[in-house]
Parts: sequence; structure tokens; C-alpha cells
Amino acid sequence: MRLWALLTAPGYAAQSRVRTGRWAVVESYLDPTPPDAAAQVERALRRAAQACGVTEAQLDALGEPPLRVRVMAPSAIQEIGEKAGLLVPGGVGVHALYYPQARLVLTRDFDAGILTHELTHYLQDQVLHLPRAQWERGATAAERA
Ligand SMILES: [Zn+2]
Repeated sequence: MRLWALLTAPGYAAQSRVRTGRWAVVESYLDPTPPDAAAQVERALRRAAQACGVTEAQLDALGEPPLRVRVMAPSAIQEIGEKAGLLVPGGVGVHALYYPQARLVLTRDFDAGILTHELTHYLQDQVLHLPRAQWERGATAAERA
């Protein structure tokens, strides 16, 4: 069991690979980074947009700075989340996080469900301007759609 976990645990590189798509810049520390990294992120963004009624024109209108999706180790996500005051200190590392002030999604990998969930938060914040108390319900629904 333990050996299996070691063999299948994702690795992370010291340098990120940057892939730029139409609506997002992907900075991936995951090693290896999938060749279609930007397309995977934008597929999840389309899925999130569709689930909460956001159009492509609204995505185009978001402008600068672009959405950034950073793929990094859970421990690094935890550290950034704590510094930003988004996570309580002492956690073991979350899977993913949306950082509103920075238009930034942090995720440990390219899992489509996790990406869709966090990208829904981005749309709830930047396009729909929904109060935070309503975020989780919509994101959970989008993730399952
Ligand atoms: Zn959430």
C-alpha cells in the first residue's frame, strides 16, 4: 500500500512550465506537465461557465490580469493559503484553492472535478459577483455536472 502510494504520487519540478490559453495562463510545477495543460484548464473553465450560465463573451470581457492557474505541491498551496489568510495555519495541505485578490487558482494537479470547482469560484467572484456564502453550493453542482 505504502509502496504503491510512493510510486504513484505526483512529482513536482523546481521550475514551472508556462502554457498560455485564450482565458488562462497555466504555470505548472507538476512533472511531467501534460502537453495539453492549457486545453485541460479551459475545458474545465467552459464546464464551470456552462454550469453557472456565464457566456464566452463574458469570459472574453474579463480582461487583465488574466486568470492564472498554478499547479503545485499541496504543501506549497497550504503555505500560500496561510500567508493570504485564506487557510488556517497548521493544515497538511489542501488539494486546491481560489485566491480572489490575485485571480489565481492553485491546484495540486489537473483533476477535472477540482479544476471545475475552483474555476467556478473564479466566475462567481469575477463575473457573477455572488456573496461568498453562496459559492460552495454552486461550485459543488458545477463539479458534478
Ligand atoms: Zn469551494
